[in-house]
Amino acid sequence: MTHPAQPKASHFINGEYVEDTAGTPIPVIYAATGEQIATVHAATPAIVEQALSTAKAAQTAWARMTGTERGRILRRAADIMRERNHELSVLETYDTGKPLQETLVADATSGADALEYFGGLAASLTGEHIPLGDDWVYTKREALGLCVGIGAWNYPTQIACWKGAPALACGNAMVFKPSETTPLCALKVAEILIEAGAPAGIYNVIQGMGEVGGALVTDPRVDKVSLTGSVPTGKKVYAAAAEGMKHVTMELGGKSPLIIFDDADIDNAVGGAINGNFYSSGQVCSNGTRVFVQKGIKEKFLARLAERTGNAILGDPMDEATSFGPMVTENQMNIVLGYIEKGKEEGARLICGGKRADMDGYFIEPTVFADVTDDMTIAREEIFGPVMSVLDFDTEEEVVARANDTEFGLSAGVFTKDFTRAHRVIGNLEAGSCFINSYNDAPVEAPFGGVKASGVGRENSKEAIKHFSQVKSVYVRMGDVEAAF
Ligand code: NAD
Repeated sequence: MTHPAQPKASHFINGEYVEDTAGTPIPVIYAATGEQIATVHAATPAIVEQALSTAKAAQTAWARMTGTERGRILRRAADIMRERNHELSVLETYDTGKPLQETLVADATSGADALEYFGGLAASLTGEHIPLGDDWVYTKREALGLCVGIGAWNYPTQIACWKGAPALACGNAMVFKPSETTPLCALKVAEILIEAGAPAGIYNVIQGMGEVGGALVTDPRVDKVSLTGSVPTGKKVYAAAAEGMKHVTMELGGKSPLIIFDDADIDNAVGGAINGNFYSSGQVCSNGTRVFVQKGIKEKFLARLAERTGNAILGDPMDEATSFGPMVTENQMNIVLGYIEKGKEEGARLICGGKRADMDGYFIEPTVFADVTDDMTIAREEIFGPVMSVLDFDTEEEVVARANDTEFGLSAGVFTKDFTRAHRVIGNLEAGSCFINSYNDAPVEAPFGGVKASGVGRENSKEAIKHFSQVKSVYVRMGDVEAAF
């Protein structure tokens, strides 16, 4: 019997499902059981061509619609996503293995927020009038044209909407390639946009590995590439996009610092560290995986952290009581277990977890290491799993320097009751998305993105509009033209 997660076909182009079984089969494995639940096929060159030419052809008419009309469609799509939240959350859980307890509140809902927010902004995208005596300049905010979105596997619905909603609001068309690990959810986003009244061809989804992504990025018809992925992939995609002078948004990895001062409320700080390390089993780019704890509260913090981490409920992700799911794939599980071994070998003190959970699926126990030093592998490299490194510090000056000593710069957080210090520390940290007495909140109203190797550009908020549109400036002369000859 066909599993309910199996899509009708692999791709969604020009308003309908499209199949081409000549493409490499991509198995979809449910991470909680290891069972294959669906198969899709990577896009063949013919499918890539069909998606790009369709999107290119559909874009002009879409951009000519008024912002109010485009926005209405996006907002209708948001409503449909919310009505179907349960069904979409179950699919997200099949795609990623994340527990339903999370997907019910963080995925289709976040996607719907993006559609609603950018749907609301669409009608307000205007230019300026710049008076110059009798003459004037006016500016127009125009679409970039054909945009490509490439997703990572941790938030397949959210990423499809975080890229699609601002792109479409600005009058662009999009071809979106989800991660080959989680190909299912973006197809639903495409389907819902059509149901909401979007013209066929303005949002297309095609499947495939890096090769398909590469074919999209290098196509001369493409004006912009927005990637969510790792730093090594980001470097390749950025370079390929530069070759064609394309616009880019790069949402890449991190090794973000979370700094906890002696005066912090311990339970709030522990809660922040848990949210910043164990949500989605640690598979979150902005995670605060280097937890710097001031020496005065270190042991108290570790004791409370171990106690609360012990309350995590590992189990069937479809059971709403489950609060901690598996790694997305067996491969990712093995990578993370490798890092845990490195932590042990290099002398970090294991506080809790530290191994694969004794159950089906790719579960790793939430793991905390203390006495981690700056040079250890687990303090330097992005693990993308449930492994928290706790490091000690004495002074503010010292911790800021150590926190910044990394190639990454996605996020940073600080817990303290001293607000002057909180703002000063955040001001001195090299990171794009920061938190004071909180961690990992990502409302659509707030810009999201990194500095240094963690990325270029911003998603969400009014900032995202700048990255999916361009300004045309028009000089208007009212009098005669003076010329030298
Ligand atoms: P990845 O870099 O392996 O793949 C990301 C996407 O890029 C996939 O769809 C993949 O098929 C595609 N791709 C790979 N090579 C390509 C190429 N040469 N040309 C075009 N496309 C190519 O990342 P992943 O393992 O799927 O996701 C995990 C990474 O993503 C982590 O580093 C994580 O921090 C990062 N991430 C960042 C954010 C953010 O917003 N900053 C959010 C989620 C994940």
